[in-house]
Amino acid sequence: MSILVVMEQRGGSWNRMSFETLAAAQQMAAELGTTASAAVLGQGVESLAAELAGRQLEKIYLVEHELLKEYTPDAYTSALRQLLAHAAPEYVLLPHTYQVRDFLPKLATSLNTVAVSDVVAHRVEAGALVLVRQLFQGKVNSDVRFTAAAPRFASLQAGAYRADRLMEGSAPLEKFAPQVAPGDVRTRPQERFRESARAVDLAAAELIVAVGRGIKEAENIAMVQELATVMGAELAASRPICDAGWLPMERQVGSSGQTVGPKLYMAIGISGAIQHLVGMKGSRTIVAVNKDPNAPIFEVADYGIVGDLFQIVPELIAAFKTAK
Ligand SMILES: Cc1cc2nc3c(=O)[nH]c(=O)nc-3n(C[C@H](O)[C@H](O)[C@H](O)COP(=O)(O)OP(=O)(O)OC[C@H]3O[C@@H](n4cnc5c(N)ncnc54)[C@H](O)[C@@H]3O)c2cc1C
Repeated sequence: MSILVVMEQRGGSWNRMSFETLAAAQQMAAELGTTASAAVLGQGVESLAAELAGRQLEKIYLVEHELLKEYTPDAYTSALRQLLAHAAPEYVLLPHTYQVRDFLPKLATSLNTVAVSDVVAHRVEAGALVLVRQLFQGKVNSDVRFTAAAPRFASLQAGAYRADRLMEGSAPLEKFAPQVAPGDVRTRPQERFRESARAVDLAAAELIVAVGRGIKEAENIAMVQELATVMGAELAASRPICDAGWLPMERQVGSSGQTVGPKLYMAIGISGAIQHLVGMKGSRTIVAVNKDPNAPIFEVADYGIVGDLFQIVPELIAAFKTAK
């Protein structure tokens, strides 16, 4: 039995969710009494694979081919099928990225099996992995047990596991050269879509103060901005705030915004809908201010302040000013 993580890179840069998946695999391997390995696909990505050599892994598979330089679902599926036949892992874990959503159903179906998508947690029962997925926008958790034979696929939700829990060690590198012919690949990658330059990189912020619909009016945002400024934090928002044009889209946190992992995330007047939580629940410490004691944000909060933000935020501003 073993676990294989398919890491994601694009143009030689990691998708950082891969490291959350790697940490999850290490954790699961320890609980199952097995080992975790990692695979890196691409062309000219040996230096990336080498970066994993200091991790506690059984092996790093470097899967290189010129047709893997740019992502295509056909080439990835073909190469991974060959790797899986060679490595024969019991479980295959992937980060739940857009790219994985694109090729994983195809890969699993081609092996006459299924993939468990968007996993948020796991436990081990009687030596087998039980995966937890959320249904109805996070209102219900469902347990999923595999009944099919290996390989058993699962993709893990952003922020569900912590990359800073990765265990150090040493891992050997194995080169694996898949056979992929140009005729196997039915799509031709075009120039990559470039997002306009972001003025703010929330993903790199250490302190974030985020504002939600509880703020009621656009002009009230100035108060939360002041709190962010006095704390030296970046200002972020839930989707309705950005949809209303009260703050730019680049400040939106969540499934259709940015995924953040600051040391401190302060949620002001945000209910904690699942689409918001997936973008911020990987934060080290979460503080929530909400007048509704049953708001779902309190389920992920380390510290909760139940009360009126229009009373609490000015008091926080004053307290930070005094502390400075
Ligand atoms: C496909 C899809 C993608 C989505 N993507 C995202 C995304 O990326 N990011 C995102 O954030 N959302 C996203 N959403 C929207 C999401 O479902 C929620 O609607 C949204 O997160 C709610 O934002 P909110 O918490 O600010 O507002 P609300 O849910 O309206 O919550 C406002 C909160 O403020 C509290 N409140 C009100 N007044 C006060 C007060 N005076 N003092 C203290 N608390 C107060 C209320 O108790 C309430 O909990 C998406 C939805 C869909 C369907």
